Amino acid sequence: MSSRWQKRDQSRPDRKVSFSFIWQIQLASSANRNALLKHTFQHNTRTVLSQAAGMAQHEQSAASFPEHIRKKRNGEQLSAGEIRDFVQGVKDKTIQESQIGAMLMAIWLQGMVAEETLALTKEMMMSGEVMSWPAEWEGLVVDKHSTGGVGDKISLVLAPALAACGCKVPMISGRGLAHTGGTLDKLESIPGFNVYQSVQQLHGILEEVGCCIVGQTDNLVPADKVMYALRDVTSTVDSLPLITGSIISKKGAESLNALVLDVKFGNAALYKDLGSAKSLAQSMVTVGNSLGIRTGAVLSRMNCPIGRCVGNTLEVMESLECLKGRGPDDILELVTSLGGLLLWMVGRAGSLEEGKKVISTTLQNGAALEKFQNMMIGQGVTSQIAASLCSTNTDYYGILRRAHYQTELETQGHGTVLDIDGMVIAQVLHRLGAGRSKAGDPVNHSVGAELLLSLGQKVEKGQPWLRVHYETPALSAEQRLSLQGALTLGPADQLLTQPLVAEIILP
Ligand code: URA
Repeated sequence: MSSRWQKRDQSRPDRKVSFSFIWQIQLASSANRNALLKHTFQHNTRTVLSQAAGMAQHEQSAASFPEHIRKKRNGEQLSAGEIRDFVQGVKDKTIQESQIGAMLMAIWLQGMVAEETLALTKEMMMSGEVMSWPAEWEGLVVDKHSTGGVGDKISLVLAPALAACGCKVPMISGRGLAHTGGTLDKLESIPGFNVYQSVQQLHGILEEVGCCIVGQTDNLVPADKVMYALRDVTSTVDSLPLITGSIISKKGAESLNALVLDVKFGNAALYKDLGSAKSLAQSMVTVGNSLGIRTGAVLSRMNCPIGRCVGNTLEVMESLECLKGRGPDDILELVTSLGGLLLWMVGRAGSLEEGKKVISTTLQNGAALEKFQNMMIGQGVTSQIAASLCSTNTDYYGILRRAHYQTELETQGHGTVLDIDGMVIAQVLHRLGAGRSKAGDPVNHSVGAELLLSLGQKVEKGQPWLRVHYETPALSAEQRLSLQGALTLGPADQLLTQPLVAEIILP
């Protein structure tokens, strides 16, 4: 166990003790096994008694819970103990759903001060399993989180690039919802890729390869599962303290040494303007650092799709191209900025610029590609498929499923490409089956679109600009019209060139 977690555990001595007892008993010789078992029995008896006392205390706090709701509703600050009552009541189901909903709404309306947000995040993190890593990985365990965008396949490239730099990347990712894609859905378009790995398997893959990309286990932050589902149906998703608690508690439970946040703003992002994205980034950076995770954030523009491909299978193909050193500039810019910042935060690079160069080298020299290949094998893909996908001149469609139909849309005028609205493209693809409207809905991995031009390019009328991959025999007139509306052409002097990365927030 890392020393950081040993320190952290002192506030909750019950957390990992039973785990270490089982471990010790497995290792003990038969001579001292009895003594250990006796000790364990005494320990367990104490645990049961303390759990009983805890439950009695819980029943008491459940009774006073309307008072906690009243306090928050009236704009007062909740104490750490009251926040603990809330999160434990959520986890143990000792408070009613209507009360949880009322508290969530009170938080949404009144907000929380930094102290409350930190207490909420800590309690959520401790509501389930907190991972622990071998001592020799201390300082190397890193991850990134993105607030979501269109064509955002950065994780697929960044995780293996970081592993190639010696980091350990236990990337716990999510699925796509509404217009944004999800890393797990993208990876599941690779035949055999299994995003569900036990904690032991995850350890094994990290030991062997250095990175893995997996779904959230049942035991990781169970309070978030309940709260997130209730936020969805009570219109309380877009609350700064609730988003901070939800995201950072899961990263805290990964026991990271460093975390980088890609907080996006623009038409195709959750936050439309830099100011609101910055407030969220600052809140997450503050809480992450207070939990002992070196946390920094990159504020990046999210208007045009990232890269040239949108849609699960197409994005896997584009990620592989990046790992083969043939990626578009905007993906490289994001991967190297996020990765460079992480390398600097864990002391593996002397500066952000140096970190960017180190990450870039892993994409050029095949080191990151090799990590991706081994990660695929570690997560269930056959070595034959993994090798084939990673070979220089892969026939991707020999392995990945291609949609039944492809149509190319042509430009309706001439001029310079001033804008490509990622949100419009994502919404049409969503209707064609690429995304899901509610958790659990299936997605069609093959549906997607390829951009055939880029910002600032001069085009003639009738030039193909978007290749749409879909399953229904024809695109509707309305879908065509919407897609054509995503492309803005105009005079070259109206082109607004802004850097993809607007700002960086350091720990
Ligand atoms: N992602 C999460 O996991 N939680 C939120 O609240 C928002 C995005």
